[in-house]
Amino acid sequence: MDLGQLLRDVPDFPKPGILFKDITPLLASPAGMQAAIEQLAAIDVGKIDKVAAIESRGFLFGMPLAMRLGVGFVPVRKPGKLPWKTNRVEYVLEYGTDAIEIHQDAIARGERVLLVDDVLATGGTMAAAIELVQACGGEVAACLFAVELGFLHGRARLGTHPAHSLVALA
Ligand code: AMP
Repeated sequence: MDLGQLLRDVPDFPKPGILFKDITPLLASPAGMQAAIEQLAAIDVGKIDKVAAIESRGFLFGMPLAMRLGVGFVPVRKPGKLPWKTNRVEYVLEYGTDAIEIHQDAIARGERVLLVDDVLATGGTMAAAIELVQACGGEVAACLFAVELGFLHGRARLGTHPAHSLVALA
């Protein structure tokens, strides 16, 4: 199945000059989402203990993937959303600046964590998520994405951590 056909390009959203990759047609396709989760689960990332995904569209892939792999799920959220003690990292977005947080006890020291988000753009968000996992004492097994905007060279921000995407756009 060509998952790229289930993505809609929305020019100038949320700001002029941004070509937004709308995943809602993929979300609306049961066969498409089943294929997406199976394809993510088939990527060899070694043994993992947790899947952590980034609010909010990352949750749509991360939670079903965690269930499919039989491991726990950890939400990485925007500031002020998580109720317990948090670690926070600030970062620069393709369109603005932001911060993300994780519960300090979400990941045990030495646990191998699979990080998931919907889109790899500039890589700033995932680089911040890598920092958060490491601040908890976790080890990043790999970073997975549904879509990769290769022309933004986000992989360069992820250091030596393995990165995989289902739909890679040049
Ligand atoms: P970045 O930190 O630049 O890699 O941005 C990644 C985050 O922003 C992801 O969580 C995406 O949901 C969102 N994002 C950034 N650029 C786009 C885009 N062109 N289309 C869809 N989502 C995007």
